[in-house]
Amino acid sequence: MSRDGKAASQGFGRRQEDRVTPEERIYPLQFILDYVQEKKNTLLALEGSSLHQALRIRETSHAIGRQMALMGQEEGKLTPEQQQLYDLLKHQQEQVQELTVGLTRKGLAFEDMDNMLRQAQPFILRLIFKDTLTDTYNRYFFISRGEKLMREAEENIGFSLAFFDIDKFKACNDTYGHEFGDAALKYLSSTINEHLKQNDLHSTYFVRMGGDEFILISNELAFPHFVLLLDDLQRRITGGTIHWEQLSGKITVSVGAANSVFGKLSSPWDVYREADARLYNAKERGRNCIVSS
Ligand code: GH3
Ligand code: MG
Repeated sequence: MSRDGKAASQGFGRRQEDRVTPEERIYPLQFILDYVQEKKNTLLALEGSSLHQALRIRETSHAIGRQMALMGQEEGKLTPEQQQLYDLLKHQQEQVQELTVGLTRKGLAFEDMDNMLRQAQPFILRLIFKDTLTDTYNRYFFISRGEKLMREAEENIGFSLAFFDIDKFKACNDTYGHEFGDAALKYLSSTINEHLKQNDLHSTYFVRMGGDEFILISNELAFPHFVLLLDDLQRRITGGTIHWEQLSGKITVSVGAANSVFGKLSSPWDVYREADARLYNAKERGRNCIVSS
C-alpha cells in the first residue's frame, strides 16, 4: 500500500513504466522469445522449400536412373559420347543423393529445434511472468501486459483492478516467524488462483506486486460483478486456515478496487493509483473490508 508519504518515496507520482530497467526496455524477454520463434519459423520455411526442391530433383534423378539402367544394359556397346553422358549422369545422381540426405537430416534437426522451443516456451514464460515464492503473476506481467488487457476490454466493461494487502502482516511474521509468513503468502495466492480457475475466469489475473501487496486485474467482468468476485474471494481467504509445520493460523485482507470506465481512468496505472487510495481507506476503516467507491 502506498500511503501519501510512501507513495512519493516509491515514485508513484512518476510513471510506473520508469521502473523498467534499460535492458528490459531494449530487449524485453518476451520480445526475445518472439524474435527467436519468428527466426526459427523463417529458417524452417526456407529449409522446407529446399527440401521440397531436393525431393523433386530426386524424382527427376530416378527417371534419369531408369534411363541409365537401360543404357547400362548396353554398356559394352555404348559409343564414347554415350559413355561420357552415362558417366556424367551417374556423377550427378550421386550428388543429388548426397544433397537429399543432408537436407533430410537438416529438416529433422529443425523439427527437433521446433519441438524443443515449443517445450521450453511455458518454462520461459513462467520465468518471465511468475513470482517464484507464490507462483502467481509478478510485477513484470502487469508492466508488460496491463495496457494490452485494458485496450482489449469491451467498452462498457473496462479494466478493473483490486489492490489486496494482508492485514498486520508484520505482526504475523513477528509472532509465527517468516516461514509461516511465506506460507501465508502462498496460501493467499493459491486460494485466489483456485477460485479463478474453478470459475473459468481466464482473463482475470492475480499479481504479486511485492511484499504482501497483490493486485487482481480483469478485463472480463463488469465492475459490479468484479466487486461480487472480491466478496467471494475475501470470504474464502478469511474462511481458510494456513498450516505450516505445527503452526496454524488465519489472515484477513483489506481490498481497494477501481475500474477504468466507472472512474473515467485512461491507463492501468491510473486505475492502480485509484485502487491504492481505496485500499488506504479500507485500512482506515478498520481493515478486513473492501472499498470500491
Ligand atoms: P497493514 O495492515 O497496515 O498492511 O500492516 P502490515 O503489517 O501488513 O504492514 P505492511 O503491509 O507495510 O507490512 C508488510 C510486511 O510484509 C513487512 C515485511 O516484513 C513483510 N514481507 C514482505 N515480503 C515478505 C516475504 O516475501 N515473506 C514474508 N514472510 N514476509 C514478507
Ligand atoms: Mg499489509
